[in-house]
Amino acid sequence: MTTMIDLKNVSYRYPVSDDFALKNVSFSIEKGKFTAIIGNNGSGKTTLCNTIRGFVPHFYKGDLEGDVIVDQTNMKDYQLGQLGEKVGYVFQNPFIQVSGVKDNVFEEVAYGLENLGVPVEEIKVRVEEVLKLVKIEHLREKNPFELSGGQRQRVALASIIVMDPEILVIDEPTSQLDPIGTEHIFDIIRLMKERGKTIILVEHKMDLIAEYADNLLVMHEGQLVMQGPVREVFANPAFEQYQIQYPHVTDIALQLQKSGIPLSFLPIRDEELADALNMTGGVTHD
Ligand code: ADP
Repeated sequence: MTTMIDLKNVSYRYPVSDDFALKNVSFSIEKGKFTAIIGNNGSGKTTLCNTIRGFVPHFYKGDLEGDVIVDQTNMKDYQLGQLGEKVGYVFQNPFIQVSGVKDNVFEEVAYGLENLGVPVEEIKVRVEEVLKLVKIEHLREKNPFELSGGQRQRVALASIIVMDPEILVIDEPTSQLDPIGTEHIFDIIRLMKERGKTIILVEHKMDLIAEYADNLLVMHEGQLVMQGPVREVFANPAFEQYQIQYPHVTDIALQLQKSGIPLSFLPIRDEELADALNMTGGVTHD
């Protein structure tokens, strides 16, 4: 297995700030894994994402200690532009991501490739493919500023996917979306995983994390307090103290357990509840 992202004892303090936003954070992410970062507001999730894409400290300045290694190369040895091709970043707020210089969605999605000097014919093929993938073909002639929040979120995702980065860092991609739009974004993320991309996602919707992510990083007041496979982290009793939501079904199962109903394991997906309660096969209806 290849390590794609490796942080060793990373601490970071924003300029003019007294506190460290990241405190001695260490973890590794293997190539092709889908990792979700969770934690309460202000716990350091976005700062961590910005560290992986080199904005900390190249853009934000401040004090960075420790080592950030992306695809075997230390962050100190990257130029920001070089890293931008390797790490695609989808902002939490899709309104920031729209370039403001293109007047239709097709051109907007093509913009990054144009900047890289990709031949026009290749750009057309790649943009067409991504518009279809993200299901925004019908928006191709629309002005990006006339779109709804959810549509912009998809355009933002498309404009990153089209660049074909090795690593995708996605900060709350579903904040503007209804449940169907949300499922659709996760379908796209799953497809990216199938294509071997390394995915890092900040998300509050634990049911979706339980369904799709491989590993969890739990942030709390700038510290990485728990890490590991999703199921192990949720099943660890230490998780409760951070007052982060559990997946819906896990929450229900824990309450049942507290009221004396035994569980054979802790379910994290809806379809596991019956098994966890030993109900499958054992229940008869008349
Ligand atoms: P999260 O994404 O988990 O909500 P952030 O990474 O945004 O957390 O913030 C972590 C800490 O860093 C917070 O205390 C926040 O106030 C601080 N912080 C975030 N951005 C900046 C900045 N640009 N300048 C100074 N402090 C910041």
